[in-house]
Amino acid sequence: MGLKTFKRGIHPPDGKAYTNTKAIEILMPDEGALMVFPLSQHIGAPATPIVQKGDRVLLGQKIAEAGGFVSSPIHSSVSGTVKDIKPMSTPGGAVVNSIIIENDGLMEEDPSLGKDTDYKNFDKEKIVNKIKEAGIVGLGGAGFPTHVKLSPPPDCKIDHIIVNAAECEPYLTTDHRVMLEKTERLVEGLNIMLKLFPEAKGYIAIEANKPDAIEKISEVAANYPNISVVKLLTKYPQGSEKQLIYAVSGREVESGKLPANAGCIVDNVDTVLAIERAVAKDRPLMRRIVTLSGDAVANPGNYQVRIGMNMKDFIEKTGGFKEEPGKVIAGGPMMGPAMCNLDVPFIKTSSALVCLTPASCVLPEEMNCIRCGKCVDACPMGLMPTLLNKCALDKDYAAFVANDGIDCIECGSCSYVCPAKRHLAQTLRITKREAMALKKAGKI
Ligand code: SF4
Ligand code: SF4
Repeated sequence: MGLKTFKRGIHPPDGKAYTNTKAIEILMPDEGALMVFPLSQHIGAPATPIVQKGDRVLLGQKIAEAGGFVSSPIHSSVSGTVKDIKPMSTPGGAVVNSIIIENDGLMEEDPSLGKDTDYKNFDKEKIVNKIKEAGIVGLGGAGFPTHVKLSPPPDCKIDHIIVNAAECEPYLTTDHRVMLEKTERLVEGLNIMLKLFPEAKGYIAIEANKPDAIEKISEVAANYPNISVVKLLTKYPQGSEKQLIYAVSGREVESGKLPANAGCIVDNVDTVLAIERAVAKDRPLMRRIVTLSGDAVANPGNYQVRIGMNMKDFIEKTGGFKEEPGKVIAGGPMMGPAMCNLDVPFIKTSSALVCLTPASCVLPEEMNCIRCGKCVDACPMGLMPTLLNKCALDKDYAAFVANDGIDCIECGSCSYVCPAKRHLAQTLRITKREAMALKKAGKI
Protein backbone atom coordinates (compact mmCIF):
# COMPACT_ATOMS: atom_id res chain seq x y z
CA MET A 1 0.00 0.00 0.00
CA GLY A 2 1.28 3.49 -0.82
CA LEU A 3 2.27 5.99 1.78
CA LYS A 4 -0.48 8.32 3.00
CA THR A 5 0.03 12.06 3.12
CA PHE A 6 -1.51 15.54 2.78
CA LYS A 7 -1.33 18.29 0.16
CA ARG A 8 1.78 20.47 -0.22
CA GLY A 9 4.32 20.65 2.67
CA ILE A 10 8.12 20.62 2.77
CA HIS A 11 11.12 18.37 3.39
CA PRO A 12 13.51 20.03 5.88
CA PRO A 13 16.64 18.17 7.07
CA ASP A 14 15.48 16.08 10.01
CA GLY A 15 18.42 16.31 12.46
CA LYS A 16 17.20 13.11 14.10
CA ALA A 17 20.52 11.26 13.86
CA TYR A 18 21.66 13.04 17.04
CA THR A 19 19.24 11.03 19.17
CA ASN A 20 17.13 8.46 17.30
CA THR A 21 19.31 5.57 18.43
CA LYS A 22 19.61 6.79 22.03
CA ALA A 23 17.53 4.75 24.47
CA ILE A 24 15.37 6.66 26.96
CA GLU A 25 17.41 7.48 30.06
CA ILE A 26 15.73 8.24 33.39
CA LEU A 27 17.01 11.43 35.05
CA MET A 28 15.83 12.14 38.58
CA PRO A 29 16.04 15.48 40.41
CA ASP A 30 18.57 15.81 43.22
CA GLU A 31 17.61 15.71 46.88
CA GLY A 32 17.01 19.30 47.94
CA ALA A 33 16.09 20.42 44.42
CA LEU A 34 13.21 22.86 44.16
CA MET A 35 10.46 21.49 41.93
CA VAL A 36 8.16 24.10 40.38
CA PHE A 37 4.58 23.24 39.35
CA PRO A 38 2.89 26.09 37.46
CA LEU A 39 -0.88 26.04 37.94
CA SER A 40 -1.39 26.66 34.20
CA GLN A 41 0.23 23.82 32.29
CA HIS A 42 -2.78 23.23 30.07
CA ILE A 43 -5.37 25.01 27.96
CA GLY A 44 -8.27 26.21 30.11
CA ALA A 45 -8.72 27.49 33.63
CA PRO A 46 -5.65 27.37 35.92
CA ALA A 47 -5.66 24.64 38.55
CA THR A 48 -6.44 25.57 42.17
CA PRO A 49 -3.86 24.71 44.86
CA ILE A 50 -5.04 22.28 47.57
CA VAL A 51 -1.80 22.37 49.57
CA GLN A 52 -0.26 25.14 51.65
CA LYS A 53 3.22 26.40 52.42
CA GLY A 54 4.81 24.02 54.94
CA ASP A 55 2.75 20.94 53.97
CA ARG A 56 4.56 17.65 53.45
CA VAL A 57 3.48 16.05 50.17
CA LEU A 58 3.99 12.58 48.76
CA LEU A 59 4.98 11.39 45.31
CA GLY A 60 1.87 11.32 43.13
CA GLN A 61 -0.24 13.32 45.57
CA LYS A 62 -2.67 15.74 43.99
CA ILE A 63 -1.49 19.27 44.84
CA ALA A 64 -3.89 21.30 42.69
CA GLU A 65 -7.46 20.61 41.63
CA ALA A 66 -8.84 21.32 38.14
CA GLY A 67 -10.16 24.89 38.06
CA GLY A 68 -13.09 24.15 35.73
CA PHE A 69 -14.38 21.65 33.16
CA VAL A 70 -11.61 22.59 30.71
CA SER A 71 -8.76 22.32 33.20
CA SER A 72 -6.60 19.65 34.74
CA PRO A 73 -5.31 18.70 38.20
CA ILE A 74 -1.59 18.68 39.04
CA HIS A 75 0.32 16.07 41.05
CA SER A 76 3.63 16.24 42.85
CA SER A 77 6.37 14.32 41.06
CA VAL A 78 8.46 13.96 44.26
CA SER A 79 7.91 13.71 47.99
CA GLY A 80 8.92 16.76 49.98
CA THR A 81 7.77 20.02 51.52
CA VAL A 82 5.79 22.86 49.98
CA LYS A 83 8.14 25.83 50.25
CA ASP A 84 5.95 28.45 48.63
CA ILE A 85 3.13 29.22 46.23
CA LYS A 86 4.06 32.24 44.15
CA PRO A 87 4.43 33.50 40.56
CA MET A 88 7.31 31.84 38.70
CA SER A 89 8.61 31.96 35.11
CA THR A 90 7.51 29.19 32.74
CA PRO A 91 9.15 27.87 29.55
CA GLY A 92 6.81 29.93 27.34
CA GLY A 93 7.95 33.16 29.04
CA ALA A 94 4.77 33.75 31.05
CA VAL A 95 4.92 34.23 34.82
CA VAL A 96 2.41 31.87 36.42
CA ASN A 97 1.38 31.19 40.00
CA SER A 98 3.24 27.99 40.94
CA ILE A 99 3.59 25.49 43.78
CA ILE A 100 7.24 25.05 44.80
CA ILE A 101 8.20 21.77 46.47
CA GLU A 102 11.59 20.89 47.94
CA ASN A 103 12.45 17.32 46.97
CA ASP A 104 13.33 15.27 50.08
CA GLY A 105 14.87 12.58 47.88
CA LEU A 106 12.79 9.81 49.50
CA MET A 107 10.25 9.44 46.68
CA GLU A 108 7.74 8.35 49.28
CA GLU A 109 4.62 7.45 47.38
CA ASP A 110 1.00 8.43 48.03
CA PRO A 111 -0.48 5.13 49.36
CA SER A 112 -3.73 5.71 47.47
CA LEU A 113 -1.97 5.14 44.12
CA GLY A 114 -1.86 1.89 42.20
CA LYS A 115 -4.79 0.36 44.06
CA ASP A 116 -7.48 -0.06 41.43
CA THR A 117 -6.06 -1.74 38.35
CA ASP A 118 -8.87 -4.06 37.28
CA TYR A 119 -9.11 -1.81 34.23
CA LYS A 120 -10.36 -4.38 31.74
CA ASN A 121 -13.68 -4.24 33.60
CA PHE A 122 -13.88 -0.45 33.85
CA ASP A 123 -16.87 1.21 32.21
CA LYS A 124 -16.50 4.31 30.00
CA GLU A 125 -17.19 6.75 32.80
CA LYS A 126 -14.53 5.22 35.00
CA ILE A 127 -11.92 5.28 32.22
CA VAL A 128 -12.56 8.97 31.47
CA ASN A 129 -12.53 9.76 35.18
CA LYS A 130 -9.17 8.01 35.66
CA ILE A 131 -7.72 10.05 32.78
CA LYS A 132 -9.16 13.26 34.20
CA GLU A 133 -7.96 12.57 37.74
CA ALA A 134 -4.49 11.66 36.45
CA GLY A 135 -4.13 15.20 35.06
CA ILE A 136 -3.49 14.07 31.50
CA VAL A 137 -3.36 16.76 28.82
CA GLY A 138 -2.12 16.72 25.23
CA LEU A 139 1.59 16.11 25.70
CA GLY A 140 2.44 16.91 22.09
CA GLY A 141 2.44 20.59 23.03
CA ALA A 142 -1.22 21.63 22.84
CA GLY A 143 -1.99 20.90 26.50
CA PHE A 144 -5.70 20.37 25.87
CA PRO A 145 -7.19 18.31 28.73
CA THR A 146 -7.51 14.76 27.39
CA HIS A 147 -10.70 13.88 29.27
CA VAL A 148 -12.44 16.76 27.48
CA LYS A 149 -11.16 15.57 24.10
CA LEU A 150 -12.45 12.09 24.92
CA SER A 151 -15.92 13.50 25.70
CA PRO A 152 -16.94 14.92 22.30
CA PRO A 153 -20.36 16.48 21.65
CA PRO A 154 -23.05 13.78 21.27
CA ASP A 155 -23.66 14.64 17.61
CA CYS A 156 -20.04 13.73 16.72
CA LYS A 157 -19.84 10.10 15.69
CA ILE A 158 -16.24 9.09 16.39
CA ASP A 159 -14.95 6.34 14.12
CA HIS A 160 -11.21 7.12 13.98
CA ILE A 161 -8.90 7.20 17.01
CA ILE A 162 -5.52 8.21 15.65
CA VAL A 163 -2.22 7.99 17.50
CA ASN A 164 -0.08 10.78 16.12
CA ALA A 165 3.27 9.04 15.76
CA ALA A 166 4.42 11.05 12.74
CA GLU A 167 6.99 13.00 14.76
CA CYS A 168 7.65 15.21 11.75
CA GLU A 169 9.43 18.03 13.64
CA PRO A 170 13.19 17.92 13.01
CA TYR A 171 15.37 16.74 15.92
CA LEU A 172 12.50 15.22 17.96
CA THR A 173 12.82 11.47 18.61
CA THR A 174 10.94 10.63 21.81
CA ASP A 175 7.92 9.17 20.02
CA HIS A 176 10.26 6.99 17.97
CA ARG A 177 11.95 5.70 21.12
CA VAL A 178 8.66 5.10 22.94
CA MET A 179 7.40 3.06 19.99
CA LEU A 180 10.53 0.90 20.17
CA GLU A 181 10.86 0.64 23.95
CA LYS A 182 7.28 0.73 25.24
CA THR A 183 5.48 -0.84 22.29
CA GLU A 184 2.98 -3.05 24.15
CA ARG A 185 1.97 -0.32 26.56
CA LEU A 186 1.44 2.19 23.76
CA VAL A 187 -0.80 -0.15 21.79
CA GLU A 188 -2.71 -1.06 24.95
CA GLY A 189 -3.18 2.67 25.63
CA LEU A 190 -4.91 2.97 22.26
CA ASN A 191 -6.97 -0.14 23.02
CA ILE A 192 -8.17 1.53 26.25
CA MET A 193 -9.21 4.62 24.27
CA LEU A 194 -11.13 2.40 21.85
CA LYS A 195 -13.23 1.07 24.73
CA LEU A 196 -14.75 4.56 24.88
CA PHE A 197 -15.74 4.42 21.21
CA PRO A 198 -16.68 0.82 20.37
CA GLU A 199 -17.57 1.72 16.78
CA ALA A 200 -14.19 3.31 16.12
CA LYS A 201 -11.03 1.83 14.74
CA GLY A 202 -7.57 2.69 16.04
CA TYR A 203 -4.77 3.90 13.78
CA ILE A 204 -1.15 4.39 14.70
CA ALA A 205 0.20 6.74 12.05
CA ILE A 206 3.98 6.65 11.62
CA GLU A 207 6.24 8.37 9.10
CA ALA A 208 8.19 6.06 6.79
CA ASN A 209 11.52 7.32 8.18
CA LYS A 210 10.96 5.09 11.26
CA PRO A 211 10.89 1.60 9.66
CA ASP A 212 11.99 -0.15 12.89
CA ALA A 213 9.07 1.43 14.78
CA ILE A 214 6.64 0.54 12.00
CA GLU A 215 7.80 -3.07 12.16
CA LYS A 216 7.64 -3.36 15.95
CA ILE A 217 4.28 -1.62 16.33
CA SER A 218 2.83 -3.70 13.48
CA GLU A 219 3.87 -6.93 15.25
CA VAL A 220 2.09 -5.93 18.47
CA ALA A 221 -0.92 -4.35 16.73
CA ALA A 222 -1.51 -7.63 14.89
CA ASN A 223 -2.95 -8.94 18.18
CA TYR A 224 -5.66 -6.28 18.14
CA PRO A 225 -8.28 -6.68 15.39
CA ASN A 226 -9.41 -3.05 15.64
CA ILE A 227 -5.95 -1.42 15.47
CA SER A 228 -3.81 -0.91 12.38
CA VAL A 229 -0.64 0.92 11.45
CA VAL A 230 -0.74 3.66 8.81
CA LYS A 231 2.51 4.40 7.01
CA LEU A 232 2.93 8.06 6.21
CA LEU A 233 5.12 9.82 3.69
CA THR A 234 7.95 11.60 5.47
CA LYS A 235 6.95 15.21 4.97
CA TYR A 236 6.53 18.25 7.21
CA PRO A 237 4.05 19.07 8.84
CA GLN A 238 2.67 15.52 8.62
CA GLY A 239 1.99 15.46 12.38
CA SER A 240 -0.15 18.57 12.35
CA GLU A 241 -3.64 17.51 13.40
CA LYS A 242 -5.58 18.50 10.29
CA GLN A 243 -2.91 17.19 7.94
CA LEU A 244 -2.74 13.88 9.82
CA ILE A 245 -6.52 13.45 9.79
CA TYR A 246 -6.54 14.07 6.04
CA ALA A 247 -3.73 11.57 5.48
CA VAL A 248 -5.34 8.83 7.58
CA SER A 249 -9.07 9.33 6.89
CA GLY A 250 -9.20 11.43 3.74
CA ARG A 251 -11.41 13.92 5.65
CA GLU A 252 -10.93 17.65 5.98
CA VAL A 253 -11.62 19.42 9.26
CA GLU A 254 -13.53 22.58 8.38
CA SER A 255 -12.31 25.96 9.53
CA GLY A 256 -13.29 26.57 13.15
CA LYS A 257 -14.39 22.96 13.66
CA LEU A 258 -12.90 20.22 15.82
CA PRO A 259 -11.39 16.90 14.70
CA ALA A 260 -14.41 15.31 16.41
CA ASN A 261 -16.64 17.02 13.83
CA ALA A 262 -14.79 14.92 11.24
CA GLY A 263 -15.26 11.79 13.38
CA CYS A 264 -11.66 11.76 14.60
CA ILE A 265 -9.78 11.99 17.87
CA VAL A 266 -6.02 12.46 17.68
CA ASP A 267 -3.58 12.01 20.55
CA ASN A 268 0.17 11.92 20.50
CA VAL A 269 2.35 8.98 21.54
CA ASP A 270 3.35 10.15 25.02
CA THR A 271 -0.28 11.07 25.80
CA VAL A 272 -1.48 7.58 24.88
CA LEU A 273 1.26 6.11 27.04
CA ALA A 274 0.13 8.32 29.92
CA ILE A 275 -3.44 7.07 29.39
CA GLU A 276 -2.24 3.48 29.72
CA ARG A 277 -0.34 4.37 32.87
CA ALA A 278 -3.30 6.21 34.39
CA VAL A 279 -5.95 3.59 33.62
CA ALA A 280 -4.02 0.30 33.82
CA LYS A 281 -1.59 1.26 36.58
CA ASP A 282 -3.49 3.99 38.41
CA ARG A 283 -0.61 6.47 38.16
CA PRO A 284 -1.05 10.21 37.61
CA LEU A 285 0.99 12.25 35.16
CA MET A 286 4.28 13.02 36.91
CA ARG A 287 6.88 12.60 34.22
CA ARG A 288 7.41 13.09 30.56
CA ILE A 289 9.94 12.07 27.94
CA VAL A 290 11.93 14.81 26.25
CA THR A 291 14.56 15.02 23.54
CA LEU A 292 17.67 17.05 24.29
CA SER A 293 19.37 17.75 20.98
CA GLY A 294 21.32 20.15 18.79
CA ASP A 295 24.98 20.83 18.10
CA ALA A 296 25.52 22.80 21.32
CA VAL A 297 24.86 19.98 23.83
CA ALA A 298 27.46 17.52 25.07
CA ASN A 299 25.14 14.52 25.31
CA PRO A 300 22.09 14.65 23.09
CA GLY A 301 19.56 12.01 24.04
CA ASN A 302 16.04 11.05 25.06
CA TYR A 303 15.40 11.55 28.74
CA GLN A 304 12.54 10.75 31.08
CA VAL A 305 12.26 13.71 33.44
CA ARG A 306 10.03 14.62 36.34
CA ILE A 307 7.53 17.39 35.67
CA GLY A 308 8.62 20.36 37.77
CA MET A 309 12.35 19.67 37.34
CA ASN A 310 14.50 22.69 36.52
CA MET A 311 15.67 22.76 32.88
CA LYS A 312 19.04 24.31 33.69
CA ASP A 313 19.75 21.61 36.29
CA PHE A 314 18.62 18.98 33.81
CA ILE A 315 21.03 20.15 31.11
CA GLU A 316 23.89 20.22 33.62
CA LYS A 317 23.04 16.67 34.71
CA THR A 318 23.26 15.45 31.11
CA GLY A 319 26.78 16.90 30.77
CA GLY A 320 25.94 20.50 29.90
CA PHE A 321 26.77 22.43 26.77
CA LYS A 322 29.86 21.77 24.70
CA GLU A 323 29.53 25.27 23.31
CA GLU A 324 27.48 28.18 24.64
CA PRO A 325 24.28 28.01 22.57
CA GLY A 326 23.15 30.88 20.39
CA LYS A 327 19.58 29.69 20.77
CA VAL A 328 17.65 27.15 22.83
CA ILE A 329 14.30 26.17 21.38
CA ALA A 330 11.48 24.67 23.45
CA GLY A 331 10.22 21.92 21.14
CA GLY A 332 11.26 21.50 17.52
CA PRO A 333 12.92 24.16 15.36
CA MET A 334 9.96 24.60 12.98
CA MET A 335 7.34 25.57 15.56
CA GLY A 336 9.05 25.80 18.94
CA PRO A 337 9.65 29.22 20.54
CA ALA A 338 13.18 30.38 21.37
CA MET A 339 13.69 30.46 25.12
CA CYS A 340 14.90 33.54 26.96
CA ASN A 341 15.48 31.78 30.29
CA LEU A 342 16.46 28.21 31.14
CA ASP A 343 15.81 28.64 34.85
CA VAL A 344 12.29 27.28 34.38
CA PRO A 345 10.64 23.92 35.04
CA PHE A 346 9.64 21.15 32.69
CA ILE A 347 5.88 21.31 32.40
CA LYS A 348 3.40 18.81 30.99
CA THR A 349 3.76 20.17 27.46
CA SER A 350 7.59 20.34 27.29
CA SER A 351 8.59 17.99 24.47
CA ALA A 352 12.20 18.90 23.70
CA LEU A 353 15.08 21.30 24.10
CA VAL A 354 16.99 21.94 20.88
CA CYS A 355 20.23 23.81 21.63
CA LEU A 356 21.98 25.34 18.64
CA THR A 357 25.41 26.92 18.40
CA PRO A 358 25.53 30.58 17.31
CA ALA A 359 26.75 29.46 13.87
CA SER A 360 23.71 27.22 13.42
CA CYS A 361 21.06 29.76 14.26
CA VAL A 362 21.89 32.90 12.32
CA LEU A 363 18.62 34.60 11.42
CA PRO A 364 18.95 35.80 7.82
CA GLU A 365 18.02 39.35 6.96
CA GLU A 366 14.70 39.84 5.22
CA MET A 367 14.81 40.90 1.57
CA ASN A 368 12.03 42.08 -0.71
CA CYS A 369 9.46 39.54 -1.86
CA ILE A 370 10.24 38.43 -5.40
CA ARG A 371 6.74 37.02 -5.91
CA CYS A 372 8.02 33.55 -6.67
CA GLY A 373 5.00 31.85 -5.08
CA LYS A 374 7.06 29.21 -3.27
CA CYS A 375 5.36 30.00 0.04
CA VAL A 376 1.96 29.41 -1.56
CA ASP A 377 3.11 26.09 -3.03
CA ALA A 378 4.37 24.97 0.41
CA CYS A 379 1.47 26.01 2.65
CA PRO A 380 -0.31 22.88 3.91
CA MET A 381 -3.43 24.93 4.67
CA GLY A 382 -3.73 26.27 1.13
CA LEU A 383 -3.23 29.86 2.29
CA MET A 384 -1.39 32.70 0.55
CA PRO A 385 1.34 33.55 3.05
CA THR A 386 2.69 36.43 0.98
CA LEU A 387 -0.75 38.09 0.89
CA LEU A 388 -1.33 37.44 4.61
CA ASN A 389 2.07 38.92 5.35
CA LYS A 390 1.08 42.09 3.52
CA CYS A 391 -2.18 42.27 5.53
CA ALA A 392 -0.14 41.79 8.70
CA LEU A 393 2.39 44.51 7.85
CA ASP A 394 -0.47 46.87 6.88
CA LYS A 395 -2.20 45.95 10.17
CA ASP A 396 -5.29 45.23 8.07
CA TYR A 397 -6.81 42.66 10.43
CA ALA A 398 -10.13 42.50 8.56
CA ALA A 399 -8.32 41.53 5.35
CA PHE A 400 -6.16 39.06 7.31
CA VAL A 401 -9.32 37.33 8.58
CA ALA A 402 -11.07 37.55 5.19
CA ASN A 403 -8.10 35.71 3.64
CA ASP A 404 -8.33 32.92 6.24
CA GLY A 405 -5.28 34.00 8.24
CA ILE A 406 -6.93 32.52 11.34
CA ASP A 407 -6.52 29.07 9.75
CA CYS A 408 -2.71 29.40 9.73
CA ILE A 409 -1.31 26.51 11.76
CA GLU A 410 1.98 28.39 12.29
CA CYS A 411 3.96 25.50 10.81
CA GLY A 412 6.76 27.68 9.40
CA SER A 413 6.78 25.96 5.98
CA CYS A 414 6.39 29.31 4.19
CA SER A 415 9.36 30.88 6.01
CA TYR A 416 11.45 27.78 5.34
CA VAL A 417 11.04 27.89 1.56
CA CYS A 418 11.14 31.66 1.08
CA PRO A 419 14.24 32.63 -0.95
CA ALA A 420 13.87 36.25 0.25
CA LYS A 421 14.01 34.99 3.87
CA ARG A 422 10.78 36.81 4.70
CA HIS A 423 9.82 36.21 8.33
CA LEU A 424 6.40 35.05 7.24
CA ALA A 425 5.38 32.54 9.92
CA GLN A 426 6.68 34.75 12.73
CA THR A 427 4.66 37.74 11.47
CA LEU A 428 1.54 35.65 10.83
CA ARG A 429 1.69 34.08 14.28
CA ILE A 430 1.64 37.47 16.03
CA THR A 431 -1.02 38.88 13.70
CA LYS A 432 -3.21 35.81 14.15
CA ARG A 433 -3.26 36.34 17.94
CA GLU A 434 -4.15 40.02 17.49
CA ALA A 435 -6.82 39.29 14.87
CA MET A 436 -8.42 36.58 17.03
CA ALA A 437 -8.58 38.96 20.00
CA LEU A 438 -10.18 41.67 17.86
CA LYS A 439 -12.65 39.17 16.37
CA LYS A 440 -13.59 37.94 19.84
CA ALA A 441 -14.16 41.53 20.95
CA GLY A 442 -16.41 42.05 17.89
CA LYS A 443 -14.10 44.77 16.52
CA ILE A 444 -13.61 43.16 13.10
S1 SF4 B 1 2.92 29.15 8.78
FE1 SF4 B 1 0.76 29.43 8.17
S2 SF4 B 1 0.86 30.48 6.21
FE2 SF4 B 1 2.91 29.64 6.60
S3 SF4 B 1 2.89 27.66 5.58
FE3 SF4 B 1 2.27 27.27 7.69
S4 SF4 B 1 0.02 27.37 7.67
FE4 SF4 B 1 0.75 28.30 5.76
S1 SF4 C 1 8.30 32.66 -1.00
FE1 SF4 C 1 9.02 34.63 -0.24
S2 SF4 C 1 9.71 35.70 -2.07
FE2 SF4 C 1 8.44 34.00 -2.77
S3 SF4 C 1 6.34 34.85 -2.93
FE3 SF4 C 1 6.53 33.99 -0.88
S4 SF4 C 1 7.18 35.74 0.37
FE4 SF4 C 1 7.59 36.31 -1.72
